[in-house]
Amino acid sequence: MKIKLTKALPEQLKTPPASMSGVVFGTVFSDHMFCMEWDDGKGWHSAQIKPYGPLTLEPSSMVLHYAQMSFEGLKAYKLESGEHGLFRPRENFKRMNLTSKRMCLPELDVEEMLDALKQLLRLDSGWVPGEEGTSLYIRPTILATEKAIGLKVSSKYLFYIILSPVGPYYPQGFNPVNIMVSEKYVRAVPGGVGNAKTGGNYAASILAEKEAKELGYTQVLWLDAVERRYIEEVGSMNIFFVINDTIVTPMLTGSILPGITRMSLLELGKHWGLKVEERRITIEEVLQGLKDGSVTEVFGAGTAAVVSPVGILSYKGEDCQVGNGETGPVAMQFYEHLTGIQYGHESDPFGWMEMI
Ligand SMILES: *Cc1c(COP(=O)(O)O)cnc(C)c1O
Repeated sequence: MKIKLTKALPEQLKTPPASMSGVVFGTVFSDHMFCMEWDDGKGWHSAQIKPYGPLTLEPSSMVLHYAQMSFEGLKAYKLESGEHGLFRPRENFKRMNLTSKRMCLPELDVEEMLDALKQLLRLDSGWVPGEEGTSLYIRPTILATEKAIGLKVSSKYLFYIILSPVGPYYPQGFNPVNIMVSEKYVRAVPGGVGNAKTGGNYAASILAEKEAKELGYTQVLWLDAVERRYIEEVGSMNIFFVINDTIVTPMLTGSILPGITRMSLLELGKHWGLKVEERRITIEEVLQGLKDGSVTEVFGAGTAAVVSPVGILSYKGEDCQVGNGETGPVAMQFYEHLTGIQYGHESDPFGWMEMI
């Protein structure tokens, strides 16, 4: 694939933040972006790297009305050796293709996209922050751009990748979060798009999060939409439990997003010889387990936070504390080890890091 390069002019170049503390997640963007277009009959074309800047879209662009789109989220890290590395990037492009299948979007060539991303990262390498715990967040996105407000499969698409330097998720150490089980709303239904990383899922979750925040909770715990019993996810993260020393996470049923952090924790747990299970878990089992002490840890898992311990779980107006309300040893071990691989402090036995 031929990529046209248009570099930002010296006066267009921005200065990366000197320190990431105080920078709000996802609000600062690097100097360049990768773009390409897709047209019916022509496929992907016009691949280019150009200065980061506004898109030109018709107000009738299909994505703006019907949300035919997909996106991804991954990170580049500055390793101890000074090199820059990506964590399992092929998994993100593979998952993007799964989302695209479900949303009738054109698929990408995983190796070509990895190559394009690396070229972009080499050009904007000065934007990979170096302070402890920081990283460069990467957002690939596909949008349906045909100008038509009749509902159908779009005949035109735009794919782009933008880069955003982000600070440490836990500048003052772990902060266990208080979460509320959503009884009023659901995130995803069987046969729906819960396992796709597509915009509408997140728009639909905002009200539940807003109402939970008003009650003093940071995030929502989602139950299955049919029986309202089986635990699915927490906020925009997968969820894990430690039950009688076994690491348990909900099995992928189609309404759960198949997280790459989730997959990595399962693989790490097995590698360490721990007992891991993917199965259905009811809210009753967890509440009972919190009371009798068999459930010792609850934590979310995702790219942004890596691991997010839960201190309090609220259901039907009742708050239940998880353990002593602090970060448990399993969550800590996963966090330390996975970030250790990402920053190059730990060996990488699975070859998860892809050097740029
Ligand atoms: C992105 C996402 C996750 C986590 O996936 P990772 O690949 O680990 O970042 C989990 N749940 C939802 C709903 C998500 O959007």
